Amino acid sequence: MLTLWLGRHFQRQDILSRASLIQSERRFRSVVDHVKEVIFQTDAQGKWIFLNPAWTEVTGFAVADSLGTVFLDYVHPDDRERNRALFEPLIQRNKDFCRHEIRYLHKSGGFRWVEVFARLTQDESGSAIGTSGTLSDITERKATAEEIYSLAFYDPLTNLPNRRLMQDRLMQRLIVSARDNRHGALMLIDIDNFKVLNDTLGHDVGDQLLVEAARRLRSCVRESDTVARLGGDEFVVILDDLDEGDWAVTQTEAVAEKIQAQIALPYILNVIANDIEQIQHSYHCTSSIGITLFHDQSNSIKELMRRADTAMYQAKAAGRNTLRFFDPEMQAVVTARAVLETDLRKAIANSQFVLHYQPQVDFQGQVIGAEALIRWQHPQRGLVSPAEFIPLAEDTGLILPIGHWVLTTACAQLAIWATQAETAHFTLAVNVSARQIKLPNFVEEVLAVLDNFGIAPGKLKLELTESLLLENAEVIIGKMAALKARGVGFSLDDFGTGYSSLSYLKRLPLDQLKIDQSFVCDVLTDTNDAAIARTIVALGKTLGLAVIAEGVEAEAQRDFLANNGCYAYQGYLFCRPLPLDGFEAFLKQVERAHETNAQQYRLDFSRVY
Ligand code: C2E
Ligand code: CA
Ligand code: CA
Repeated sequence: MLTLWLGRHFQRQDILSRASLIQSERRFRSVVDHVKEVIFQTDAQGKWIFLNPAWTEVTGFAVADSLGTVFLDYVHPDDRERNRALFEPLIQRNKDFCRHEIRYLHKSGGFRWVEVFARLTQDESGSAIGTSGTLSDITERKATAEEIYSLAFYDPLTNLPNRRLMQDRLMQRLIVSARDNRHGALMLIDIDNFKVLNDTLGHDVGDQLLVEAARRLRSCVRESDTVARLGGDEFVVILDDLDEGDWAVTQTEAVAEKIQAQIALPYILNVIANDIEQIQHSYHCTSSIGITLFHDQSNSIKELMRRADTAMYQAKAAGRNTLRFFDPEMQAVVTARAVLETDLRKAIANSQFVLHYQPQVDFQGQVIGAEALIRWQHPQRGLVSPAEFIPLAEDTGLILPIGHWVLTTACAQLAIWATQAETAHFTLAVNVSARQIKLPNFVEEVLAVLDNFGIAPGKLKLELTESLLLENAEVIIGKMAALKARGVGFSLDDFGTGYSSLSYLKRLPLDQLKIDQSFVCDVLTDTNDAAIARTIVALGKTLGLAVIAEGVEAEAQRDFLANNGCYAYQGYLFCRPLPLDGFEAFLKQVERAHETNAQQYRLDFSRVY
């Protein structure tokens, strides 16, 4: 009886608990099937083993198709590495759970932003068997946040950073420039007479101009530089990572000039005429630019803005379409360069250049040739050193006509020397700038000049510097090879001061390395310089190249070089660079000295000139 009762009782209990289990399962199902969040489970390999219907809502993929596939396949390719880096520590049990925001692909193309919560799942023995968690679609929230950010920090008309973001960036630039000891520049750019355009043709037309001006400004600077709109027709450009001193001024000036040229190009503006008809209106404008440089945090943002502003008003006062540096010394550099450039153009037109020749001698003091060094006979300033005008000539492209003149004059001289027994064997070294060799017809130009004067190409030695190979090395090597094939010689000038890699050096069709004077200068006192000089000689030997030392001023330097295998020299010890008549007089003196076997010829001579 009792057994029967007990049996019934338990049966009933069983039915009851099964019913409640089914009910709770139903309740669970109903929640899981209707929540907006994706609920998921993966195995330890990252394959989906459970997904609720929200999965299809969020990604467009059917649950049945997705189960058994790897979750990473659904993640935006750009976010996969990051997601993998979060999944693996979970499975390896270095972390219990993770939360992150990531883009999931949508079946119809595009993607959704998803917030992921994932935690490790374990079996009874505590081994990791996968992950489980939720994915919530946060695309709308992200878009709103981005819009708020954009409204707060960007100018809606031009999409450029606004004043707030510009100040933020400037602050960062100041910190970085102080840390890295680099210079930066702050430029304030104002469109001249913008108000007139706005007042006469209306704000819509003014806006078109501002949008186009913003685009042009962006095109004038590097990706890392900042272009911002302060409001109205005022823009700011922040340049960073500039070189030191006058170089920063030069670089900034170059960018500012480029900006002025771009802003000055015509604008095609759509104007509504007679309230109905739309016509295109071509408009020209100029800009005034105020500039100040910074290189640490010694000036506040406010002070820098004030300086750029002051400079900009000076530019306006100077008649608009002008750029001005705040700092008087910087402005002086710019003004001096402008004067030099004008003078240099006149010098080309009026043939104010001369070549000086510096002998190159062998171990016995016999002259084997010379280096042609340009001088500028300035009508007021006298003889100007190339160190003063060659860099500007390179910047402005004036080096091209100047370089052509040097090459022609040098070859004309070689042709004369070829007719005289004492000088017939001379080689003449001519310095060549990067701008020159980059000319598309450089090879033809050199060959034409040689041909014109009927010179054996082996008499001409072109001096190049290592820095010239930093850009477009392949093209330059090709040009050198073409000239070398015709017999023209090449010497690598200032060798040791650049960054030539040995592999490059091997590929260059060179004839000679020229040990830079900075090493020769201290060869007796500085063990490093002595080691460098020795290494260059050894390198020359290995590569089958001749070696010459420049800047030899003392007998002891010459002796050191000779003892280490360098037997060609150039320097004040033998002779300074001299105008042609002086050079020829020197040759005669050397000849006499050799005839009379006198040892003192060089000392006497350097006093004469
Ligand atoms: P560089 O090619 O390294 O020329 C050697 C410079 O060292 C010359 O200066 C020369 O006068 C000087 N020098 C020669 N021997 C000694 C010495 O014993 N001690 C010292 N302290 N200096 C010595 P320069 O004539 O003032 O020329 C300066 C630079 O201008 C040249 O350096 C070269 O880079 C450039 N240059 C000169 N002429 C031309 C040219 O026609 N074209 C190009 N592109 N550059 C040129
Ligand atoms: Ca040289
Ligand atoms: Ca040199």
